[in-house]
Amino acid sequence: MQQQDEAHYVQHAAEGDIHILRLANPPVNTLRAALRAELVAGLNAAREAGAKAVVIVGTGRMFSAGAEMTEFGKPRVPPGLHDIAEEIARFPGPVVAGIHGGAYGGGLELALACHARVAAKGTKLALPEVKRGILPGGGGTQRMPRLIGPIPALRMIVSGEPVTAEEALKLGFVDEVAEGDIEAAAVAFARRALAEGHRFVLARDRTDKTAGADLAAFDAEVEALLRRSRGMLAPVNCAKSVRAALTEPFDQGLQTERALFNELVNSEQSLALRHIFFAEREAQKVPGVPPGTPTVKVAKAAVIGAGTMGGGIAMCFAAAGIPVTVVEADAEALQKGIERCAANWRRSRNAPPEEEIRRRLSLMTGTTDMAAVGDADLVIEAVFEDIGVKEKVFAELDRHARPGAILASNTSTLDIDRIARATRRPRDVLGMHFFSPANIMRLLEIVRGRETSPEAIATAMEVGKAIGKVPVVVGNCDGFVGNRMTGKRGPQIEKLLAEGCLPQDIDRVMESYGMAMGPLATGDLAGLDIGAAVRRARGTVAPIADALVAAGRYGQKTGKGWYRYDENRRRHPDPEVERIILETSQRLGITRRRISDEEILDRLLLPMVNEGARILEEGIATRASDIDVVFVHGFGWPAWRGGPMFWADRVGLKEVRDRLARYAAATNDPNLQPAPLIERLAAEGGSFAGLDRARSPAAAAG
Ligand code: NAD
Repeated sequence: MQQQDEAHYVQHAAEGDIHILRLANPPVNTLRAALRAELVAGLNAAREAGAKAVVIVGTGRMFSAGAEMTEFGKPRVPPGLHDIAEEIARFPGPVVAGIHGGAYGGGLELALACHARVAAKGTKLALPEVKRGILPGGGGTQRMPRLIGPIPALRMIVSGEPVTAEEALKLGFVDEVAEGDIEAAAVAFARRALAEGHRFVLARDRTDKTAGADLAAFDAEVEALLRRSRGMLAPVNCAKSVRAALTEPFDQGLQTERALFNELVNSEQSLALRHIFFAEREAQKVPGVPPGTPTVKVAKAAVIGAGTMGGGIAMCFAAAGIPVTVVEADAEALQKGIERCAANWRRSRNAPPEEEIRRRLSLMTGTTDMAAVGDADLVIEAVFEDIGVKEKVFAELDRHARPGAILASNTSTLDIDRIARATRRPRDVLGMHFFSPANIMRLLEIVRGRETSPEAIATAMEVGKAIGKVPVVVGNCDGFVGNRMTGKRGPQIEKLLAEGCLPQDIDRVMESYGMAMGPLATGDLAGLDIGAAVRRARGTVAPIADALVAAGRYGQKTGKGWYRYDENRRRHPDPEVERIILETSQRLGITRRRISDEEILDRLLLPMVNEGARILEEGIATRASDIDVVFVHGFGWPAWRGGPMFWADRVGLKEVRDRLARYAAATNDPNLQPAPLIERLAAEGGSFAGLDRARSPAAAAG
């Protein structure tokens, strides 16, 4: 094979009369403008050189991760994907995509515009644009249905979920699954096609899968799919665009696709989703923990405590194939805990096959002997929330754990430094705060203590990702980031109820904002007695919530809390709750009034934003965008709303400051006094995003 030139983003090579164009924009070959231009030039050059076929492959990890997101929302620089597709169509012989690793979004659209696709075994292929609030705007919504039929295409595009090369072969948008070197396989495919004189029909010219499509069946499928994405615009436009592939000629369909894309690309929702996409990546950059920080390889883990959290945490390790020892104080609790893990797997929505459940259970070893942690590389403690108990457990871990093992606590509120001091190795101690249910919620707050080493943080992040979590490093304080912020919402909920709201009003507003579940229904799920115990310990009161607990209303576990629950666990407003609330208003001398939905939303979100600002001031969170990641992955905040700090930026911090001051005066809640950081940013005309940019290492270096 001979290298013909040294083009920057596309390498051009030839093997006889088959030319090879290699995408070379590390690390993931995003289709930046310069690459697109070189691809067009490469196709042209191949045609002029008399090439019989062209193979397009990716260098490095994958074929292509698609569009360069930093180009979104900026003026379009030609050539676009459509121009490349035109160039492919103009080429006299077959243009074959050789795909390995992954082809996502525009990367897959590029491949769909080719005459044929050869994919390496295990390659992932997806049109994930919907997850960024947009749609595949490079012809994907028009070509995919023509290749695989309307309903399979609709499902791929509306869900954004990947399929494997093997599935794509069955669906019909991959022509061959290859083993070994993808470039060699794609060249061999092209050579065979040439030898056989095979005539390929481009997707745009195919009608066999779309002609006479059953539109009623299609619309029924759309309705079923959209039910799951309440409030989101992108899935709606995705479906409309795929439908155009059934009712319009190809070129007109492309225009429809473009128009629907343009509606989305600068929408609030797409901005929010892109914000979260970048925020998740930013959160992986931790001050003082540079890339390449050595980590402890976690070949074996241990969990102390087999209760609600310990069991869920052990499930995460076993599901990821990491052996885990579960240590309990109580033999009966141990057995029950492990049985609960099995039961949880069996009744989960995507229950794994029985064989897989047995494999996972075989990775879990239960014991009541603390010495069993001796061969663990990471120990996570999840015993009762009691500092005395935790100190005792950590002193024991110090005796039994191997030197260099990482020791983590799942505490929600206790001081990590104090826990670390119970050992002689505080550098190896940190918090790993999982969210309930631990096997499902993706957020993992990693709590850095005063002495925690960079190696311990890097290990916790690495293992967190390995078990499917989204780790966010936070500082040590009561409640850390998420619970500390939601904690400030509680007093406003009490006040809203006393002033005129009912539980269903508050939950309705939050659920129509997009939360999976309103705060009061969530309280019923977690148990109202837990909050009451915390208030007792802190000497605070919540007259209405306390009255509910006094009336035996602990939430779902007693069949009644803020709501009454029927035998299907469906919630219903309960006259007894209304009576308790009205009596409390009267007792407090409050004349109830009608409260608007806007006010409800403000009074629930503003206290969290205000506390978020204090958290930033104190350095408990590194960036405002980290806080948004915490809420999306730990608190059911809809990603398409971008998180509380993003919300505040969109409202504008001056407006946020004014509203906070107004509600502070009206409700006499000192928590609502605008935080100094909000005062400062409001005065400067700044934003949380601007603060993040100013603080980021890249900005500092540049
Ligand atoms: P839990 O009461 O369900 O479980 C605690 C378990 O620890 C019990 O089974 C108990 O027998 C065992 N245990 C107590 N002392 C022990 C010891 N010395 N050695 C071994 N085992 C011992 O409690 P939980 O809800 O799982 O909470 C555990 C921890 O996780 C607490 O620190 C809590 O604050 C934290 N947490 C809880 C949640 C939640 O929503 N429940 C969320 C995040 C963090």
